[in-house]
Amino acid sequence: MRLGIMGGTFDPVHYGHLVIAEVARTEFSLDCVVWVPAGDPPHKDERVSSEEHRYAMVVLATGTNPDFRVSRMELEREGPSYTLDTVRGFREEHPEADLFFITGADAILEILTWHRHEELVRLCRFIGVTRPGYDLARVNTVLPAAYLEQISTISAPGVDLSSTDVRTRVRAGQPIRYLVPEAVEAYVRKHGLYRET
Ligand code: ATP
Ligand code: MG
Repeated sequence: MRLGIMGGTFDPVHYGHLVIAEVARTEFSLDCVVWVPAGDPPHKDERVSSEEHRYAMVVLATGTNPDFRVSRMELEREGPSYTLDTVRGFREEHPEADLFFITGADAILEILTWHRHEELVRLCRFIGVTRPGYDLARVNTVLPAAYLEQISTISAPGVDLSSTDVRTRVRAGQPIRYLVPEAVEAYVRKHGLYRET
């Protein structure tokens, strides 16, 4: 079994996330991509929406794809959520599986700042996907050769959008239609998310 893991804060999930997960799934013949909304993300300073809101929006966004699943692993865990613990969790659940952690270019370029990254890169492979505004080719100069053996890079149709942009638009009263799935747009409106800083 070839299992993709799509980690992120997803505050909220948007089409940039969906495109890279689906391109990684098809190009690497992944049997399934498990989305893992982060619990308490150690890298973010800005306040994030409640775990349950972010989880619900990922469920809504991925619901029509039979090869996408959503995991509560990082939400159930106490303390900061580290990718290392998540990958170990999947390794225990699926000892035979090949694990592929999917990231955008910005995230893979920062892997040397991740918690215990030396151990992490031994546990799974990484799929680094292009993201507008970031130079994915820099992995080759920034990361050690041993890491590059574990990292594959692919390009996806560019979606020049971040969750920060989506939140800013909502706060400014601008539309987010066609930037996030319809169900996510409706959820944001229903719960009044992102209206205040
Ligand atoms: P924020 O602005 O809050 O940081 P974000 O849009 O960067 O939000 P994250 O939840 O931080 O989303 O990212 C989760 C994963 O998705 C990361 O690996 C990130 O690189 C990737 N990603 C996010 N948006 C895009 C995009 N538009 N294109 C490619 N990859 C993306
Ligand atoms: Mg981000």
